[in-house]
Amino acid sequence: MRVCVRRRVPVLVACLCLCLVMSPRADAQVTAPEPPGGWPVVTVHGETWNQQSLLQRNLGGRDDQTTAFPPHRIVGNIYYVGTASLASFLIATPQGHILINSSYERNVPVIQKSVEALGFKVSDIRIVLGSHAHGDHMEGDAAVKALSGAQVVAMAEDVPALERMRPGGKPHPIDRVIHDGDSVTLGATTLVAHLTPGHSRGCTTWTLTATEGGRALDVVIVGSLGVNPGFQLVNNTEAPAIADEFRRAFTVSRALPCDVPLASHPAMYRMAEKHARLDKGGLNPFIDPAGYGRELDLTEAMFQAVLTAQQKRAGQ
Ligand SMILES: [Zn+2]
Repeated sequence: MRVCVRRRVPVLVACLCLCLVMSPRADAQVTAPEPPGGWPVVTVHGETWNQQSLLQRNLGGRDDQTTAFPPHRIVGNIYYVGTASLASFLIATPQGHILINSSYERNVPVIQKSVEALGFKVSDIRIVLGSHAHGDHMEGDAAVKALSGAQVVAMAEDVPALERMRPGGKPHPIDRVIHDGDSVTLGATTLVAHLTPGHSRGCTTWTLTATEGGRALDVVIVGSLGVNPGFQLVNNTEAPAIADEFRRAFTVSRALPCDVPLASHPAMYRMAEKHARLDKGGLNPFIDPAGYGRELDLTEAMFQAVLTAQQKRAGQ
């Protein structure tokens, strides 16, 4: 891994900030004015990002969040039913389905259409899981439950944030509270919840095994390892050990065996370019263990760069 960390003034910050301020996105709510000296910058595996541009890579344009990406089978019984920049996954079993990430409430009809386009029914969703307690991933839980009667599962550390998530004043449904290492089973499919905190206190990385051509593949659905602009790693009064929580998330993530990396934002696993190679013959393009490591290198380098910059500003 070749990592170089430096600081410079990014060019697009002003317009990005304007765009982020104008659209009420959970991941953008913590966006802060550019810090003195500019956003922390990293170059990892030949790619250069600053803290703001990395968030923007994940969020895409405003329409990307609400426009369906062509629904497709990824691997085994795992299907993509999300939008161009907000990932939702359907895990289909003969005993009903699991939905990961209900997304914004306004996206639930978009997800429903994608589920139906694949030949499945939303009313067959039995369990709703989430990546982390931000509105762009879990605001629609109540709406999906209303359509399906599904059980909504929440990581204990994310429960307070979920309880504050009340679209239209509706209470956020929580039917089962889980803890690090717990599993969720439906039919022959079992997912394991790994607490990978930092981005949210209960940020969850889900793992499961998928079978493709008789081969068992380790699938990792990354919750998020991003440090959003404005997020305090240093002197965070609500979570004084938040930097250690992030470190723990990287340690846990690096220990997970991974053949197929997926994530809460599709840009985190380069969905669009892999999807373009789907069904063109050869190995399933979503099998990408090296890509998993590269993204971890990038997000960990950015975490370290942001931490160093904040420590320097705080005189530590
Ligand atoms: Zn988030």
